[in-house]
Amino acid sequence: MNTYAYFAERFLQSPARIFLEADSGERFSYADVEQETVRYASFLLDLGLKAGDRVAVQVEKSPQAVFVYLACLRAGLCYLPLNNAYQQSEIRYFLGDAEPAVAICSPRNVEWFSKLCNDAKVPHCFTLDQNGAGSFADATRSASAEFATAISQPYDLAVIIYTSGTTGRSKGAMVSHGNLTSNAKVLCDAWRITSNDTLIHALPIFHIHGLFVALNTILLSGAKLIFQRKFDANAVINALPRATMLMGVPTFYTRLLAEPSFTRHACQTMRLFVSGSAPLLLDTFNEFRERAGHTILERYGMSEAGMICSNPHEGERRGGTVGRPLPGVDLRIDGDETGGIEIKGPNVFSGYWNMPEKTNEEFTADGYFKTGDIGTVDSDGYVAIVGRAKDLIITGGFNVYPKEIELVIDAIPGVTESAVIGLTHPDFGEAVTAVIVRGADGATLSKADIVAHVKTELANFKVPKHVHFVDELPRNSMGKVQKNILRERFNS
Ligand code: AMP
Repeated sequence: MNTYAYFAERFLQSPARIFLEADSGERFSYADVEQETVRYASFLLDLGLKAGDRVAVQVEKSPQAVFVYLACLRAGLCYLPLNNAYQQSEIRYFLGDAEPAVAICSPRNVEWFSKLCNDAKVPHCFTLDQNGAGSFADATRSASAEFATAISQPYDLAVIIYTSGTTGRSKGAMVSHGNLTSNAKVLCDAWRITSNDTLIHALPIFHIHGLFVALNTILLSGAKLIFQRKFDANAVINALPRATMLMGVPTFYTRLLAEPSFTRHACQTMRLFVSGSAPLLLDTFNEFRERAGHTILERYGMSEAGMICSNPHEGERRGGTVGRPLPGVDLRIDGDETGGIEIKGPNVFSGYWNMPEKTNEEFTADGYFKTGDIGTVDSDGYVAIVGRAKDLIITGGFNVYPKEIELVIDAIPGVTESAVIGLTHPDFGEAVTAVIVRGADGATLSKADIVAHVKTELANFKVPKHVHFVDELPRNSMGKVQKNILRERFNS
């Protein structure tokens, strides 16, 4: 079934309910969602777009950007969200690779963006700003209010998400209608999301966390969004008394904990805090439980597969793990104890756009997708992520999983956090290198202190050969530590 139709069948049972409340106070009901997306969808089809044609979008977060996403689903077009951080050379690659029929950009980029559209022969280029104004809004104003939602098959292409691609070219993950609907349903059930929920939405909407996990579950359950343009700890704290849920990357939680006004009292109406997209530090997990009286529910997913694992709603949420595979997801480890995580299920994408060979490489002969993450499964079925396969360090022929060393270093008093990477070494192939952020109470910690401590806990080949102290770790907008940047910086 068409993803939009699947959501609308439920949310239109109560069309007057509020779907979204914007920073400005403006509110959109579910009836408004239906009305706005009709205009956008009929406008796009009137331009001559056909099922599966791509609509590339690099705009600021706004309710209207959400409607563009939904209109594409409705019309059977393929939505292609692009990270706002992408610069001209990256956009040039995406436009050339995806060959969209329509591209929409922020008015502040229109000069270079429209030139790139011209070069890539994109037939239509529009603008949309953070208030929903621009040439796209103007052009759709008089579009027809009559429209029949497209009929889509589960395997039909719904969205292409380009992976962040820290090695080589970014790859376009092809996500189908079936992937989206099955994952939304599983998450609504697993997290007990109902129309009584109100979610604080402070994530970007160019990434699966803010786009699929947050929006699709709310749409499917007919719940409400407090829609914040960007994450601001105080704005979230102010919204808490009107909300029941928050979905965030780990940085949201460390920033909330840094605010004295973030208290148990402030969280009185809240029922669920979800974390994902990057590993949640055990310290954050524990401190949050103490301060807020809530146990963060950590889950694991990726662009290629939506959500894969989740800690339970009822039952033990185990810090340092991402919980068990979600219903319908078949997960196995390639190896004895620690190894590559491989998965199969209705959530798994159909392949990379224009890259049949790469797609083949990433699937096993028996149809499992190789996630590229390394993990373990304990006797209760809880999965722990040890790191990305490409971050694995091979030193003197030994495999070293950075996470194991990071956990030991993070536990040293005075250390705030750490990232362990491998740097080229003439003898060992790679040398274990620790990049460390010290807290105010750790200002005097030295390389010798770190090495001495790790030596007491781990085998010699895991002890860092180099230690660098930095003020902060480089992170992307989803809170992921960018180890490639650290490798470049210290590999000299
Ligand atoms: P993306 O496709 O940008 O969502 O990135 C997916 C990757 O983020 C996964 O393959 C993991 O490496 C990482 N990731 C997502 N959630 C978690 C988590 N809870 N803990 C550790 N890593 C995570």
